[in-house]
Amino acid sequence: MSTGPTGCCGGNGETLIFTCAGAAYSGQVANRAGVQLMEQGAGSLFCIAAVAADVAQKMDRARAAATRIAIDGCEDHCVRKVLEKARLSVEMHAVVTDMGIEKKPAQPNMISDAKKVVEHVKQTLGRAGPPARKCCG
Ligand code: SF4
Repeated sequence: MSTGPTGCCGGNGETLIFTCAGAAYSGQVANRAGVQLMEQGAGSLFCIAAVAADVAQKMDRARAAATRIAIDGCEDHCVRKVLEKARLSVEMHAVVTDMGIEKKPAQPNMISDAKKVVEHVKQTLGRAGPPARKCCG
């Protein structure tokens, strides 16, 4: 599934969602939110591990995307760092622990916390409007 305008200069106009899917609770919240965002049509969930591994076919698609959303579980910002290391821009960055969700809470509530992250991302995307086109103009 893709969203956004059809790109030029070889871009495909896609919105890709990368989550850290970390072992910590907040990393799992990040991934759950990414899955739900995809189900709601906000973009396509994409493998951050494939970017870290520099898998050629996956890198082509990641480079061609118009918008890359990074959802990190905590302040270590692993997704953002992997994307930046691969010289891929991050159009939107969300951090689960910046939303009042603990990394390892005593009483986790996955459904409520994932929903909070989904709403945050959707609101931020709504405020930002359509992504700036990376175009040869
Ligand atoms: S951002 Fe935090 S939760 Fe996610 S993989 Fe990195 S250390 Fe783990």
